Amino acid sequence: MKVAKFGGSSVANAAQFKKVKQIITSDSSRKAIVVSAAGKSADQPVKVTDLLIRINRLRRAGENYLATFDQLKKRILSIRDGLKLNLDIESDLMAIFNRIDSCSYDYLVSRGEFLSGKLMAAYLGFQFIDPAQFLLFENGRVDLEKSREQLMPLLKANQGIVVPGFYGADEFGMIHLMPRGGSDISGALLANILDANLYENWTDVSGIKMADPNIVNHSKKIDRISYDELHELSLMGAKVFQEDAILPVKQKGIPVAVLNTNRPQEGGTLVVNSSSTEKHEVVGIAGKRDFVVISVKKPGLNQHQDSVAKISAILRKFDLNVDFAPFGPDVIDLLVSEKDKHCDLKKLVKVLKEQLSFQEVNVQDNIALVAAVSSHLRMQPALACRLAAALDSKDIPVHLVIQKDQDIKVLFGVSNSEYAETIKNIYSNILSLMPSKRALA
Ligand code: ASP
Repeated sequence: MKVAKFGGSSVANAAQFKKVKQIITSDSSRKAIVVSAAGKSADQPVKVTDLLIRINRLRRAGENYLATFDQLKKRILSIRDGLKLNLDIESDLMAIFNRIDSCSYDYLVSRGEFLSGKLMAAYLGFQFIDPAQFLLFENGRVDLEKSREQLMPLLKANQGIVVPGFYGADEFGMIHLMPRGGSDISGALLANILDANLYENWTDVSGIKMADPNIVNHSKKIDRISYDELHELSLMGAKVFQEDAILPVKQKGIPVAVLNTNRPQEGGTLVVNSSSTEKHEVVGIAGKRDFVVISVKKPGLNQHQDSVAKISAILRKFDLNVDFAPFGPDVIDLLVSEKDKHCDLKKLVKVLKEQLSFQEVNVQDNIALVAAVSSHLRMQPALACRLAAALDSKDIPVHLVIQKDQDIKVLFGVSNSEYAETIKNIYSNILSLMPSKRALA
């Protein structure tokens, strides 16, 4: 049995719903369908989820949200009518409208998925199952066993199901919302609960590209990638698959196929336990801009556990989230994302210098991190040197290189302004060493 999740662009309008139906009916093992809220399309510049978030902002500010609700209603009705569905979705819309002033944020913002689910279930003739009835979270973590126990009695024999993504219920029976892009997680959880043999993630791209296609023109598609490699790429900013969606499928070794609703025939990327890349090959590149690097230096710093503990305590006081903290014998580099940096850096530097009598505390901002990911990196530490040398030869100054023992990624810190060039350069360097390229050379 396959679980198939359709993202926002796949359910953006009636025409997209029709494509989804074709995909579902072409394979009878696609039995469990997860849907996002209607997303953007050529004629719809705003995602339904963002309309709901706007309604929340307006209600909080005591402003009028009628026009925004009307926009939402029109979108939902146009899908229903475009599909010629005989479905009383007006009563669901009315029930939502009546609760706007009193409901929780999670309830309100999850309604896009709820409405997509209702429409899709009616359109496919599948059973609608509200995840609030079975997908149980406790302290923010899903309880898979309890969720399975709740779901099984709801299933009818020989009937496909449609489950809205992005939410479940908490221990008090209230709606629990997942992070943005959370329908990927819902699909992965459902695949785990139902012991699916494949989790299909249908999007608007034919698989995952080796590098951001907005930066690298015609970036090659990744045919096969391991769960761990994809996790690293997602954590480093690759946007195709929500990072928290990997664990539930990895746990059961359920393969994931990332596919394109608009071009199903093109195939996509398969995510499994091991990648098929050859030795030396990097499977993908991803990165993030806007980091600050705080370097603290003192001879023998890492011998002094008390200094390291004191640094952590000071950072906690400044409410700083450190993303990476690579260190050498005399230096620790603290990498902080600009958006997590709510504190006064000058003050932090002063406190670090005063309280720890550090020889040097330097701050560098506008740093971008670019990661090259490969399971083979553990065995190929020289790869990092080769890529750094290639950047150097193009006059791209590398401020730092991070690669720990068991890492399957190497991180390069460069200036924000060199971000795109760094990705292009690493990409072309990797490509020049790929076996197919070598054969052509
Ligand atoms: N609709 C939600 C979002 O826009 C969740 C999802 O699409 O997965 O983030």
